[in-house]
Amino acid sequence: MTERVVAVIEDEDTIASAVAARLRAEGFRVEVAADGPSGVALVAQLRPDLVVLDVMLPGLDGIEVCREIQRERAVPVLMLTARDSEADLLLGLGVGADDYMTKPFSPRELVARIEAILRRVSRAPSPEAAAIRVGTVVVEPATHRVRVDGDEVHLTPTEFDLLVHLGSRPGIVFSREQLLSQVWGYADPAGLRTVDAHVAALRRKLGATLVRTVHGVGYSVEAAR
Ligand code: CA
Repeated sequence: MTERVVAVIEDEDTIASAVAARLRAEGFRVEVAADGPSGVALVAQLRPDLVVLDVMLPGLDGIEVCREIQRERAVPVLMLTARDSEADLLLGLGVGADDYMTKPFSPRELVARIEAILRRVSRAPSPEAAAIRVGTVVVEPATHRVRVDGDEVHLTPTEFDLLVHLGSRPGIVFSREQLLSQVWGYADPAGLRTVDAHVAALRRKLGATLVRTVHGVGYSVEAAR
């Protein structure tokens, strides 16, 4: 098994050290950057499998760092926030992180979240997986490409997985709890807002009507008409 590499971008030394130590104990290779610009440089040079990214950073904040590092390559991002209200704000902005954790968090939970994200990302689709069509949106699981009216649209790995999950089962309504467990791979109710944020991101990128909200139940993609 190849070594899995994580970049940790966090200016609080005690947190950065604790996260790095825990991940190294789990067998990850870990590199740490303590501010935004050096974090962007680290990710470009290291090409990590995943980035743990603090929101409040000197130089360039976590939101800008997230946009910057996603620009070239869809690397999974787990964001660390100081408060729930900060997580809410980020979810509203649709920053493109794959998951969020509010400080203080347990190192064990952090590892579980990281493992869940990496499991999802490594689940490579079979090359012959058929394209999924939802209205004007075409999803190619084999190449990870998404097109709207022929124009390619960039999705984060988690947005892509959510779209494939919903789009390959049109007409079926999934609860947020089901999506959290089936797409994210864990069942922590604190993650439910993450589901909403990713649905919002899909609507923003692919059209407001793509994913239907079924009030009191969950989300669904319409069967092709
Ligand atoms: Ca910070």
